[in-house]
Amino acid sequence: MPGEFDFIEWLCTQHRASDLVAVPQGDDLAVLNWPAGELLLVGVDQVLDGVHFDAKIHDAQSIGRKVMNRNLSDCAAVACLPAAAVVAAALPLGAGLDYAKELYLGMREAGEKCGCVIVGGDTGSWPGKLALSVTILGRSGGVGPITRKGARAGDGIYVTGPLGGSILGRHMTFEPRVQLARTLAQTGQITAMIDLSDGLSRDLGHICRQSGVGAVIDAEKVPIHADAKALSLRDGRDALNHALSDGEDYELLFTASDELSNAQGVVRVGTITQESGIWLTRGAERKRLEAVGWQHAM
Ligand SMILES: [Mg+2]
Repeated sequence: MPGEFDFIEWLCTQHRASDLVAVPQGDDLAVLNWPAGELLLVGVDQVLDGVHFDAKIHDAQSIGRKVMNRNLSDCAAVACLPAAAVVAAALPLGAGLDYAKELYLGMREAGEKCGCVIVGGDTGSWPGKLALSVTILGRSGGVGPITRKGARAGDGIYVTGPLGGSILGRHMTFEPRVQLARTLAQTGQITAMIDLSDGLSRDLGHICRQSGVGAVIDAEKVPIHADAKALSLRDGRDALNHALSDGEDYELLFTASDELSNAQGVVRVGTITQESGIWLTRGAERKRLEAVGWQHAM
C-alpha cells in the first residue's frame, strides 16, 4: 500500500508493553513468552466487505472492532483467555493511511478490553474490496477448553442473552462473552459450548452432531431480542423465527449437567436428549426445528 512504511512507523508509536511480548516488535516474526504448562489455542476469522459489513455504511473503527470481537467470541466459545493476535488486511486501492489507522485502532480497542494484544500483521492494497483477517492466540489459563463434543442426555441447554434481529446493528456492536465464559467454565458443569454466529438452530445442530445427541427446545423459553420483534413487524416473519435463525448474536450457547440459575446471566431454553434430532415444543405441540440460519456462501 502507498505509505506502507509511514504506517509501520506509526504502528511502532502505538506499541503497548506486554509481558507476553519477549522481543520488541521490528522483526519478521513476533516473539512471545508463553506461560509454562498452558495450552495454546489458535483460531482465525475474517470479515469481508459486502458479506460481514458494508464499507459504505460502517466506519473503519467499527469494522476493526467487529473482526477482533468475532475472534474474541470464538475464544469465549471454548472458554480460553485471549492473549495475542496477528492481522492481515487487504485494503482497497486508495483507502489511505488514515483509514488503515482507524481499522487498527478499532481492533486494538476491542482486543484490549479482553487482554489481547496485536503483535504483528501485514497490509496490502488491491483493486478489490476490504478484507480483514485476524488470527488469534488464546491460552487455557487453568481452565480446560470447552468443546462441542461433551453434551449428554439430560443436560440443560442455555443461552447468555436475547436473540434475533442482530442485522439491525448489533452484529457490529456486540460484546464478546469472554469473562462470562470463564466464570461458567470454572463451575465445572459446562459440558459443551459454542458461540452463536450462525443462529441457534444451526449452532445447536453443531453441538448435537458432535456430541451424538438430540435436543428439545421450549419455544416459550427462548429469549427474543427487541430487535427480532422490530424486524418481525417489518417483514412479517415470526419474532421467534428470527431468534432461532438470524445468527450473528454472539451470545454463548452451552449445555450444563446441573441446573444453573438465571441470576448467573443465563437462560435455560431446552434439554439434551438421547434420541437424535432437534425439536421445538410449545405446550403439547412438537415439531422438528429445521437448521436454518446464516450459511457461509461458497
Ligand atoms: Mg464460533
